[in-house]
Amino acid sequence: MIKLSVIMPTFNRRHILERTLPALLAQDLPAEDYEIIIVMDGSTDGTAEFLRGWKPKCAFRALIGPHRGPSAARNMGIRAAVGDLVLFLDDDLICSTGLLRQHCEAHSSSERQVIHGPIYVAPEGSQTIIRHVLENFYDTYYRSLDPNMELRYPDEIGSSLSVLSSLVNSSMPRDILIRCGGFDEDILASEDLELGLRLWKLGIAFRFLPAAVAQEYYQKSSSEYLAGQARALGAGDLVASRKHPEYRRYSSLSSFAETRFVKKWSRAWLIRLPISMAPVLTLPLRLETWFYRFPPLRRLGMCFLRLADSIARLRGALSIAGSSRVMEDEFNRRAPALAYHQIGPPQPGTYPGLTVSPKQFERQIRWLARRGYTGVRPSDWVRWQREGKGLPEKPIMITFDDAYSDIAEHALPILRRYGFGAAVFVVSGRVGGTNTWDEAQGSSTLRLMTAEQIRYWATQGIEFGAHSRTHPDLTKLSKAECLEEIAGSKDDLVGLLGSPVTSFAYPYGKYNNTVRGIVREHFDCGFSIEEGVNYLRGDPYLLRRAYIGPYDSLIEFAACVHLGSLRKFRDWRVKLAIRTRLKSAFRRLTGRFSHQEPSQSG
Ligand SMILES: [Zn+2]
Repeated sequence: MIKLSVIMPTFNRRHILERTLPALLAQDLPAEDYEIIIVMDGSTDGTAEFLRGWKPKCAFRALIGPHRGPSAARNMGIRAAVGDLVLFLDDDLICSTGLLRQHCEAHSSSERQVIHGPIYVAPEGSQTIIRHVLENFYDTYYRSLDPNMELRYPDEIGSSLSVLSSLVNSSMPRDILIRCGGFDEDILASEDLELGLRLWKLGIAFRFLPAAVAQEYYQKSSSEYLAGQARALGAGDLVASRKHPEYRRYSSLSSFAETRFVKKWSRAWLIRLPISMAPVLTLPLRLETWFYRFPPLRRLGMCFLRLADSIARLRGALSIAGSSRVMEDEFNRRAPALAYHQIGPPQPGTYPGLTVSPKQFERQIRWLARRGYTGVRPSDWVRWQREGKGLPEKPIMITFDDAYSDIAEHALPILRRYGFGAAVFVVSGRVGGTNTWDEAQGSSTLRLMTAEQIRYWATQGIEFGAHSRTHPDLTKLSKAECLEEIAGSKDDLVGLLGSPVTSFAYPYGKYNNTVRGIVREHFDCGFSIEEGVNYLRGDPYLLRRAYIGPYDSLIEFAACVHLGSLRKFRDWRVKLAIRTRLKSAFRRLTGRFSHQEPSQSG
């Protein structure tokens, strides 16, 4: 009775199979328990003749298909398999003796799951930069991975991405694969990532099995990798991002946005050129086996490889997206967010740093409008982060904490005049009341927005988010109390507005894992008071904001919008001051020399 079917696609790699097949056939699992199916994806190098020479004890089949890529080859294997379980292996993997047994044993419970074993680079094989990169990645990744890790929808993908995205050295029940239609044959790379995401969304658990070790007999040179796989990986990443919005922020394309100006600009040009610059950039890698021997040169080689890889991937994605404009719209948006408290005349007895005058506020909004910014709501950002659609070119999120009534009187009318959306975070247990949490600490009393004001402004393009029920420091409460404050404030607001409430702002900006976890269960996003700008890759439950105080000049305000914080701007100003001082000192010094020269000659 066959329990496990091993499926291995191969294309013109007879020389590698000669090296790896003996280990696969020397397993300690009883031969009647498993079968091996090798699918030749249009091989023309004599692989078929080579395989005919093997007469192992286990069931062994070599299928021949047309050259259609690994997805089609694996699907052919799935259709031919008879085992209850399927294990996917690549032709360059050297299996440990107990690999198949380990996979079988891990499925002994009745639960339907995907078991993933680690892959390390075999000590033999080519000495190339790409191999070095892979070796480092596998080593650090698998050694840092929690051996008890379990990933199940809707858990966050986070550091478990590779367990989900590589179905090589992964085993799973065969009927699940048949039910979800197997691999997408249009994708030539990242096809296992795409299938992994589909399985994850079916609710199947992904588990890591550290003992099921396989070693990769890596033979490719960096140029071979760049010419073939890198481009296909970029294209596959774009398709997977479009099919599975949950994956977008983890994809390699999300790094498209968050780079420094010079790098971003040069890369934008490099990907647009009619021919790829990757081969030129990798010319030095022709000498990679020599580079490999000297660590400093190896590091230099890695820099070249990384740059060429990112260009090749982006060009691959571009070939499907059609234009870099589409790529920009989908992956490259930056959204600064500004945090205000009170807008109005100064209030005696309150914290002076919290009130911005209406005049100053209007000046800031005018400045934004003139520079082409559009005030968007948190739900607009969330939709873009998930789906890559519907965000203007220069979005900005204007937010107000605590929902003071002076916001409704002074700030919201200004925003409406400029057509800006914004978000107000409401302390739901104090609607129409006062700031009791500040009063307790000696601040004077301030009125908060009433239910009527909230309902009215919700119809005027303003989004209302939750800010707890009573404004406590959530990190000091028990889990049950947190739930009451967080989920309770959502219920209150939904009841008040009669529409969904999607965002939360942490009171005092304070959170821990429990708090963040509860917010994640009940909301689409959460705002911290950590400074910075928001990108695709950022954590939607720790959105960053720049705090705007009353003393910020327009220049400082601009710095908050561009850099996401005033601190960076001030650091920069200090650096500039040092540079100016150094320059003047240098000038004084050189001036003295130039004065001295004529006197010496004279
Ligand atoms: Zn607050």
